[in-house]
Amino acid sequence: MITCPWCGTSYLEFLPSCRKCGGPLPPEPKEDERQESVPTPPPPPRTISNSYGLKLMMTDGWFIGAAIIGFIGGVFTIVGIVLTVLVITAFVGIPFLLLGLGMFGGGVGVVAWRYGKTQKILEVMRNGFSTEGRIVSVEMNTMVQVNGRNPWTITYEFPSSNGSLQGSVSTLNTPSLRPDQRVCVLYLPQTPEHNVLYPHP
Ligand SMILES: [Zn+2]
Repeated sequence: MITCPWCGTSYLEFLPSCRKCGGPLPPEPKEDERQESVPTPPPPPRTISNSYGLKLMMTDGWFIGAAIIGFIGGVFTIVGIVLTVLVITAFVGIPFLLLGLGMFGGGVGVVAWRYGKTQKILEVMRNGFSTEGRIVSVEMNTMVQVNGRNPWTITYEFPSSNGSLQGSVSTLNTPSLRPDQRVCVLYLPQTPEHNVLYPHP
């Protein structure tokens, strides 16, 4: 059996890329390599579909929250404009309009920030160099819930040209990683502060 490192879908037979998310699948492991080995990504550039980026964003609490607030803000803005312009109730309409614009602007700003972050993750997945790192901590965030699940934050460290760097990744999947475990990290050689865990948990 082979499991997609990007979305967790399992397949009985070997496939070059995942049917569900389009991510590249690792070559079939040999029997003696299944235990404790650090996964080796294919060399860059790797094929990662844009729909995988969309999937990353749809499990991102920041993105979902900001999209909802931006949408409500948009509705408030329209209602505020209608109240202010068409009906002569500016004393209700203008506060509504201002609240709506504030929510809309804030929502759009956060969506743009998370979109940029996701594009960077895709770039690292496609073109990043790989190195061996180590898991620092695996923690469940009990303060936040997304779709009824608590996200996990995985912190790792890896050597780079700028010395030892730390990175972290948030996931809704219960991670199978433990502290001190050796892992594969992808990073951009010019800006190693852009890094991801491979496979993405
Ligand atoms: Zn997949």
